[in-house]
Amino acid sequence: MENRNSFAAFAEACRYLPGGVNSPVRAFGGVDVQPVFIAGARGSKIFDLDGHEYIDYVGSWGPMILGHAHPAVLAAIHKATDQGTSFGAPTPAETALAARIVGAVPSIEKLRLVCSGTEAVMTAIRLARAATGRDGIIKMAGCYHGHSDSLLVQAGSGVAEAEDAAAAGPISTRVPTALTASPSVASCPGVPEALARLTLVVPYNDAGAVQAVLDKHAGQIAAVLVEPVAANMGVVPPEPGYLETLRRLCDQHGVLLIFDEVITGFRVAYGGAQELYGVRADLTCLGKIAGGGLPLAVCGGRAAIMDLLAPLGRVYQAGTLSGNPLATAAAIATLDILAEGRVYRELESSAANLAAGLAEAAADAGVRLTINRVGSLLSGFFTGRPVRNFDDVRSTDVPAFKRFFAEMLRRGIYVAPSAYEAMFVSLAHTKQDIDRTLSAARASFRLVMTP
Ligand code: PMP
Repeated sequence: MENRNSFAAFAEACRYLPGGVNSPVRAFGGVDVQPVFIAGARGSKIFDLDGHEYIDYVGSWGPMILGHAHPAVLAAIHKATDQGTSFGAPTPAETALAARIVGAVPSIEKLRLVCSGTEAVMTAIRLARAATGRDGIIKMAGCYHGHSDSLLVQAGSGVAEAEDAAAAGPISTRVPTALTASPSVASCPGVPEALARLTLVVPYNDAGAVQAVLDKHAGQIAAVLVEPVAANMGVVPPEPGYLETLRRLCDQHGVLLIFDEVITGFRVAYGGAQELYGVRADLTCLGKIAGGGLPLAVCGGRAAIMDLLAPLGRVYQAGTLSGNPLATAAAIATLDILAEGRVYRELESSAANLAAGLAEAAADAGVRLTINRVGSLLSGFFTGRPVRNFDDVRSTDVPAFKRFFAEMLRRGIYVAPSAYEAMFVSLAHTKQDIDRTLSAARASFRLVMTP
């Protein structure tokens, strides 16, 4: 495949941008392939600088649930643009969007619009700390919540971390050994150790580990933060009862439950994972789809907590471009289409066909593949075993995934350039798209087996 223009564009970009990109995964470092540079996208397809067309399962990492360049969304953005692009003053569209979100997500009574998922989660954590007067945060290994300092803390091996955490003693007096000295913990350079220590990492799908930390650090944990369907280590659904138990533990310990629904919001159901599983969070973060493909995200929740924000309360939070008129227009146009009931049935059916076809193609090629799927979010892990947490994800065959990625790309199918990311199915994916994807997968799986 001739990629001359993408290669040249990448070389040029590397002169000015660290690694040639503005977000690391775009450099394709996880798949040992040079990145393709994008000229445009429409519907289910994305086009590169060398004239190749790909069926796109990345969807800008989640937002493009309607497909690219949806006419209604583009029209709404064009119309808004005619009135000016930013005012730094309130507009009725912000209220109109907020009303839709409050109507959609069962636990959100009030919300604040921000510009990125990172900001939304950062705000939720500040609110949780203010509301509880505590500093500790529990997060799950393999979940991603943006790049704020408190959340670039990662742990590896299951039970060991929980035990480490439980053995760590009170947060305030603990020396930075327990979690951070464990060889399986990697925190990002530049993140102050003192801050990282306040984030305790336990395995996903292990409510017992959460309970152990809450018991040990009673009165010190402000929030349990979780992706209700983990989708940043590939897709890992919550096991039955997991979210319900987190809710109960939080209530027992006076801790806030924060659902990071930046991916799952408006994706797994109109009301997100909370609607799907019937569990309510105290605070919810939305982004991606909630911004209709423009930079917009949401921190929302119970009114009593949200009213702690300035100007009503003393918890400071602000943003020059928050509630931007182009972003609110794109968001409203997107949500209005999603509010039509048929949408999620169609997504379910396309994604189910894709998952079934991938499973069959892998089996025929003798490839062991575990597919996890929740609605239009899915992942194929190169393993014969179930995948229920980050340790399981890390034991999958990443070299096999890399070969699969390269073969699929060569055949015009763009899946996420990382073994740890989801596939996103959109409303624009047709039966022909899925069929083409499956025949590419058949050929690719066969080659994966013969490196
Ligand atoms: N939370 C989750 C669950 C995410 O998937 C992401 C981004 N992939 C974020 C937060 C951060 O969002 P952003 O990239 O908009 O800062």
